[in-house]
Amino acid sequence: MSELRSCDLRSLEEMMQQLQQPSFRAKQIFGWVHQKNITDITQMSNIGKNLLAMLQNEHTLGVMQLEKRQVSADGTEKYLFRLSDGEFIECVLMRYRGDMSKARNTLCVSSQVGCAMGCIFCATGQSGLVRNLSVGEIVGQVYEVNALLGEKMPVGNVVFMGMGEPLLNLDNVLKAIELLNDVQGQNIGIRRMTISTCGIVPQIARLAQAQKDFVLAISLHAPNDELRSQIMPINEQYPLAMLMNACREYQRVTKKRLSFEYALIKGFNDQEKHIKQLEMLLKGLDCHLNVIPVNPVAGAGHFQKPSREYISRFVQGLKKVGVNASIREEKGKDIDGACGQLRGKIKELS
Ligand code: SF4
Repeated sequence: MSELRSCDLRSLEEMMQQLQQPSFRAKQIFGWVHQKNITDITQMSNIGKNLLAMLQNEHTLGVMQLEKRQVSADGTEKYLFRLSDGEFIECVLMRYRGDMSKARNTLCVSSQVGCAMGCIFCATGQSGLVRNLSVGEIVGQVYEVNALLGEKMPVGNVVFMGMGEPLLNLDNVLKAIELLNDVQGQNIGIRRMTISTCGIVPQIARLAQAQKDFVLAISLHAPNDELRSQIMPINEQYPLAMLMNACREYQRVTKKRLSFEYALIKGFNDQEKHIKQLEMLLKGLDCHLNVIPVNPVAGAGHFQKPSREYISRFVQGLKKVGVNASIREEKGKDIDGACGQLRGKIKELS
């Protein structure tokens, strides 16, 4: 049985051809599935009983069950979804308010169940990879959350920073981005979608060839190989020189600004000399560095965040040497905001 949420318009048209149905049915089904966020095939009220029965017999929608919803004092919401095979994934809704022009709902989505990358500071990385998510399971996170939000402010930005390494499920991630961007679907602007990677060098080159306008964010987290290898095993395979070369080549081809993430860990990567090393690393790149106070997780509880004042001083130091840096606002501190924490707890209980 195939998932309708994984189908684009072309595959629905092929499906209609095989079922000897007129091609306009494909557009109707696409609208129900990808725009109206239906949760049951029988909600397609205008496609006729026979076609409905055929769809029910041969396809599923690919709906996931909401297992848990946590709401933070700052409005951030975290969702745990159970997939059709019993696996769990998480996604996090971050509400940015302030002046209305900047108000937005951003959904941090997962691309895999678990993750093979083993980053020390990440709860998902501690549990290993189970499998890739299908296209439908990726877009479904947006659909399910929009259905939960009702008509209020739907998800307007999507960041692939949840569970998993998106570049290791790149075909499905790119298809999901196309579906989310479709004007007949959610119509989320491509520039409002961010793919985050821990640095899979060959796939960064592939991304550049995709020639799409999404934002690429690189999880840097350390200013030199010695420190980076201690917290991100991928650095052994693709050390910083290779990674930064790939970033420069990506920028040369796409002409797009890059985003870098830097989890600041007290006494580890937060020294004066690290500012200098970051300056050298990022020199000549059009980029922005997000400094994120580290979020301690089980197994890496010894990682502590520096004080607020210290973080501000670190960012000021970066700015002084010409690095375009800012502090990433922390969201959902009281609800296991970091990815993988909620799934980890459910696994512990089961
Ligand atoms: S931080 Fe990202 S890439 Fe690293 S282990 Fe966690 S999910 Fe995987």
